[in-house]
Amino acid sequence: MSLKRVNLLFVLVLGIVMYGGFFYTYSATNKYFENESLQRMKKDILELGYSIATLIENNGVESSKKLLQKSLQANKEYKTLSIAIDDKIVVSTDINKINTDYYADSHLDTLYDYELEGHKVFYKEFAYFDKGKRVYLNLIIDLNDDYIKSDNKELPSFVITILIYFIILMAVFLIALYYINILPILRLSKYVKRNEFYPINFFIKDYASLYNSFTSKYNEIALLNKTLEDKVANRTKLVSKTNILFKEAQKLTKIGNWEWNLSDNTIVWSDEIYVIFGLQPQEFLATYETFINTVHAEDKALVQDAVSKALQSGEEYSVKHRIVLPDGSERVVYEKGKVELDENNKPIRMMGTVQDITQSFKREQELEFQSRLLNSVTDSILVHNIDGSFIYVNESAYATRGYTKDELMSMKVQDLDYSDEKEGSEIYNENIKKIKAQLEKNHHAVFEVSHKCKSGTSIPLEVTSRLMNEGNKTYIISIARDISERKIMDMSLKISEKRYRTLVENSQVGIFTSTIGGKIIYVNDAMVHIMDYESAEDMCSYNSSRIYKYSNERIEFLKELTAKGKVEEIEIHVLTKNNDEKIVLLSAHIEGEIISGIVMDITESKKSMQEITKLSKAIEEIDDIIMISDRTGVLTFVNDAYVVHTGFTREESIGKTASILKSGKHDKTFYTDMWKQILSDKVFRGVFVNRKKDGELYYEEKTISAIKNEEDEIISFVSTGKDITQRIEMQQDLEKLASTDQLTGIYNRHKFEELFKLELERVARYKNPLSIILFDIDFFKKINDTHGHDVGDTVLKSIVSVVIENIRNIDIFVRWGGEEFLILCPETDSENAVILAQKLRIKIESTTFGVAGNVTSSFGVTSYREDDTENSFIKRADDCLYKAKHEGRNRVVAIL
Ligand code: GH3
Ligand code: MG
Ligand code: MG
Repeated sequence: MSLKRVNLLFVLVLGIVMYGGFFYTYSATNKYFENESLQRMKKDILELGYSIATLIENNGVESSKKLLQKSLQANKEYKTLSIAIDDKIVVSTDINKINTDYYADSHLDTLYDYELEGHKVFYKEFAYFDKGKRVYLNLIIDLNDDYIKSDNKELPSFVITILIYFIILMAVFLIALYYINILPILRLSKYVKRNEFYPINFFIKDYASLYNSFTSKYNEIALLNKTLEDKVANRTKLVSKTNILFKEAQKLTKIGNWEWNLSDNTIVWSDEIYVIFGLQPQEFLATYETFINTVHAEDKALVQDAVSKALQSGEEYSVKHRIVLPDGSERVVYEKGKVELDENNKPIRMMGTVQDITQSFKREQELEFQSRLLNSVTDSILVHNIDGSFIYVNESAYATRGYTKDELMSMKVQDLDYSDEKEGSEIYNENIKKIKAQLEKNHHAVFEVSHKCKSGTSIPLEVTSRLMNEGNKTYIISIARDISERKIMDMSLKISEKRYRTLVENSQVGIFTSTIGGKIIYVNDAMVHIMDYESAEDMCSYNSSRIYKYSNERIEFLKELTAKGKVEEIEIHVLTKNNDEKIVLLSAHIEGEIISGIVMDITESKKSMQEITKLSKAIEEIDDIIMISDRTGVLTFVNDAYVVHTGFTREESIGKTASILKSGKHDKTFYTDMWKQILSDKVFRGVFVNRKKDGELYYEEKTISAIKNEEDEIISFVSTGKDITQRIEMQQDLEKLASTDQLTGIYNRHKFEELFKLELERVARYKNPLSIILFDIDFFKKINDTHGHDVGDTVLKSIVSVVIENIRNIDIFVRWGGEEFLILCPETDSENAVILAQKLRIKIESTTFGVAGNVTSSFGVTSYREDDTENSFIKRADDCLYKAKHEGRNRVVAIL
């Protein structure tokens, strides 16, 4: 049954009970009132009736009337009261109001049965004796309403009882209501709040089933709800736990994740990204721009490229790049991203992770650096287990032994250990013992061992070993240094010691000991030799003062020696036993009275020095240009002649190469040939066209040779040269004279011969066409005759100018005879040659040659034929010219 129905039922029951209770109380009260007042009234009326009857019986009717009238009117308890005797009203309170209709019916004894409402009139019959005769007297009463009501006051306790009854009833009802209805609901809500469910005990058993049916359903739902809530709570707990774990994991791994919604360009960053980027979530809005701004400037393009490529291809991307934090520090991150596509393959979202790999990147770099470092050291680094198997070898370790890294790693130390007498493993075991024994005293053990190389040779090594414990494993780190060189050095040192001893014994350096007073105590053989004595004893028999050529040099020497305790390399002039002068270099020190010193004979070198000085003076004085350069061509010396001829000062030249003189007149091969020659120890000779400081060219006939040191290495180059500019210029003048025509400056016939041969050779080789134009001035004799020879000469020069202006550079223009000219036109066939000839003819014809006026000329043109000789070729041109003259002059005749 539903709670609503239960409640309705309660209200119904309550209504019935209330109504019943009220009705009962009401009727009971009424009855009570009626009873009580009527009884009292009856009693009053009876008393009144008897007293009236007695009064009348004693006093008679008439005498009692007045008295009765008076006392009845005083009584307010009746509406009207009338007294009738023998059915005749004798006294009445209000005679008019007496309703006699009720008279017969309403006997006072029937009062119980009547309603009190309205004006009800009652009567009571009394009897009295008047002279022994029974007389009937009736009291007729109309009762006053107030009379009855005024008696209510006497009934409060009853009403209170009734009220208490009601209150108790109500209280019981309310308690019942509370227990039945409210308490279970309150409990239920409490349990619901606490998510606890217990069977509820009902105060009223009848309602339990109702309630149970209601709660069972509710409980079911609540249970379901609770289970659900529990599940949700657990889930939430789990999720938040997972979330915390996830955040922890992100913090630990320094991985942040992000999601970029491409449609609205929003990016969601996990907390860790902010941490990685050193940003505050409140301060920075996560956008692609925020992200790009953090990327290191040099890596920006790389990142943008990767992202845009991923967006285009829809493929995953990963990129390693640097970021710059707001505080300026740098981090390295590893970024991975993935594009999410919609059904149209359009990218809608990008997701990815950012991992802070600064530490590992640094470690990687450090590792790389370390391994590079280890590989770059020349010592071998070998890390191996106690059993000799390798854990690590550096590059030097395998390279110097001739193995690859893999080969060496597959070997053991004992495979390398080598000696003539013992097995590798035997040596190894001994060494291990040594290491362990030494390690008890020191941190490391040092020993020598030889290793066998792949090629079979052995290297002596000095090994520094150290034990290393890691966990329960023990390794040995060995640094092995190749001591072959040291061994060789040791050996050579021994040899050189021996050599040195012999050297001192056979030394060219004189060694002596003497007293300050000059007594010679000891001299070695070299000293005896330098000073030309017979023997040491011989020399020791002299006083050292004898040796000095100039006594002041001795005084100076002793003065410095006593003052400083030593002298170094002072030059002293000495006299040999035979009084020959020698120069020596003397170094000595003094201890007390004893002077010890060494003497070097520099007489010869001093002489050669003087020679050199002389030589260098000569070099300075000669007019030949002398330049000395180092191996690379940088000038180290130039003489005066150089300065004079080139115009460059010493300061401008020394420290620079001789290329400051380059004129550009020589091609590259000229210089490469020169270097080739001088480097291969040959003397180079040649004429250089060089440029002076003022830009003027000069010719230098040069000889360059290399100077070598004792080791046969070139240390410098010496160039000596003559300025032959004048000579060359003279030569050139002569050559010009020999090849050109004096009057016109064009080639003469002699030069033509030479050039003609070259051209014909070229034609034979390349089969190019070659033509000749031969022309002669018409009636030239007349010009001479008319204006004189000089005018004739001027005309000739002018015609030459006209022709030069109209021919090519490669055309060879020759004065063939007096006023006859030849043009040799290479690469020109006869047709083009005719065109040129016509052009020249017209140019000459149209030129006015001063007083001589206009001049014409006749042309013969022909081309080279394969069977032509020099003569036949020219002859044909000559024939043409002849023909042109005969045909009337001022024309071109050609044989094609
Ligand atoms: P054409 O050739 O038309 O038959 O008549 P031409 O008068 O020019 O005759 P030719 O060619 O035989 O004349 C040659 C003359 O040219 C001779 C000489 O007087 C003159 N001559 C030659 N060489 C020179 C020179 O160098 N100077 C001067 N002024 N005249 C010269
Ligand atoms: Mg002529
Ligand atoms: Mg002529």
